[in-house]
Amino acid sequence: MDRTLLKKLERIVGRENLFTSPEELHCYSYDATGREFLPEAVVLPGSTQEIAAILTLANTHRFPVVPRGAGSGMTGGSLPVQGGVVLGTGRLNRILEIDSANMIAVVEPGVITGDLQGALKPHKLMYPPDPASLKFCTIGGNAAECAGGPSAVKYGVTKDYVLGLEVVLATGKILRTGVRTEKGVVGYDLTRLFVGSEGTLGIFTKLILRLLPLPEHKETYLLTFTSLAEATGHVGRILGAGLTPCTLEYMDRTAIAVVRDRIPPALPPDTAALLLLELDGSAEEVKRQQERLLAYLERERIDYRRAESEAEAQEIWQARRAISPATFSLKPNKISEDVVVPRSRIPELVGFTEELSRELALTILTFGHAGDGNIHVNVMLDRGNPEEEARGEAARQRLFTFVVGIGGTLSGEHGIGISKSSFLPLELSPVALAVMRGLKNLFDPNGILNPGKIFP
Ligand SMILES: Cc1cc2nc3c(=O)[nH]c(=O)nc-3n(C[C@H](O)[C@H](O)[C@H](O)COP(=O)(O)OP(=O)(O)OC[C@H]3O[C@@H](n4cnc5c(N)ncnc54)[C@H](O)[C@@H]3O)c2cc1C
Repeated sequence: MDRTLLKKLERIVGRENLFTSPEELHCYSYDATGREFLPEAVVLPGSTQEIAAILTLANTHRFPVVPRGAGSGMTGGSLPVQGGVVLGTGRLNRILEIDSANMIAVVEPGVITGDLQGALKPHKLMYPPDPASLKFCTIGGNAAECAGGPSAVKYGVTKDYVLGLEVVLATGKILRTGVRTEKGVVGYDLTRLFVGSEGTLGIFTKLILRLLPLPEHKETYLLTFTSLAEATGHVGRILGAGLTPCTLEYMDRTAIAVVRDRIPPALPPDTAALLLLELDGSAEEVKRQQERLLAYLERERIDYRRAESEAEAQEIWQARRAISPATFSLKPNKISEDVVVPRSRIPELVGFTEELSRELALTILTFGHAGDGNIHVNVMLDRGNPEEEARGEAARQRLFTFVVGIGGTLSGEHGIGISKSSFLPLELSPVALAVMRGLKNLFDPNGILNPGKIFP
């Protein structure tokens, strides 16, 4: 990008919100994939109008613009793989409205997910999507990836809570989609199209979010098992027993090992797998569910412990949320996948990963959202060792082929980005891919918005 363009960007956002020095650019060059691509400039706009002006400029002069929230994405979505400008949403971080009567919130995209959840509590409201990264990821990034979390088993994922959007298109035009009401079916559902579009169709500048009443009560249980097959086999049966947990997570032996000293109280030494289960609702609802759960656990002779206090439940959650970063105590790099399979096929999937681990001599750990079949498969490796890296890539290819073969999907919440784009034809037909490319061309005819993502 030449000096004239940088000067024009400076005029739009102000000198203090344009970064061009190497050390500043480095801060916006990576995400949770561990990969790095240096942008040519970084802008931190302060309004929708500034974003519209930046995109108008980019569309005229054909330079890439890559939206970025907190940069916690797992698939490279916020990386400027073709150079250009990274557009950070950090300054657009206001909760504009909490409307308790209609149970909606209107927020800017740079609001941190956990901050919104905290701000809703005094209003006795909740925004359910709860990615493990909620303390640092943004609502804009969540909507772009359609993030999910443990509560998805009962409450669904981000797309179930975005009612409407303000979006700046690649041409600089401002589009408003959706409604502020519970229902609305006027025209095509553009909101749904934008949610999960990974910053390739437009930049969200405002989000209208649906809220729910905050459950009065919550109980947290850890179920311990001496075999992984036993734990995963119970997932479908627990849900079939009339229970509606708001969390049903599992961890295998290796996942437990990396956070073992953080799980209170000490686990039995022969624990090979855990299910983390939570019940929420009114005090009466939780009591009813609890009775049903305890009867099930007794009947099936399952060992369990109940968190005795909110502090203990939080400790369990800190351990659960720490699994992903803690895996790096095993190897310096990992291939981190978030495949989804039909719930009844989880035991087959974990059996397959165990076999893969033995055959390819790799540490592969699995954990995650068992309740909805969304399993995190982490292949640990050292990218400094090309032979090991090749085995890791072979594991990934075989994993995806297996998952699609049993009726699953490549990603439940992390999106495609650059990490999975070459595998897209495994799941999407040429017709589906052509329709998607057509939509991309319609919204972004010059291909300036987050180029190099999703499509193979
Ligand atoms: C430790 C850890 C745990 C995680 N756990 C989970 C989990 O449980 N569930 C889950 O779903 N994810 C999880 N993630 C992944 C990640 O946090 C999510 O994908 C999150 O939604 C990304 O938000 P972000 O603000 O960091 O976005 P970024 O990484 O900055 O960007 C992600 C994508 O969103 C686009 N984008 C950002 N802002 C906008 C905007 N305003 N308009 C349009 N596009 C935009 C970017 O271009 C990019 O394509 C985890 C990550 C880490 C590091």
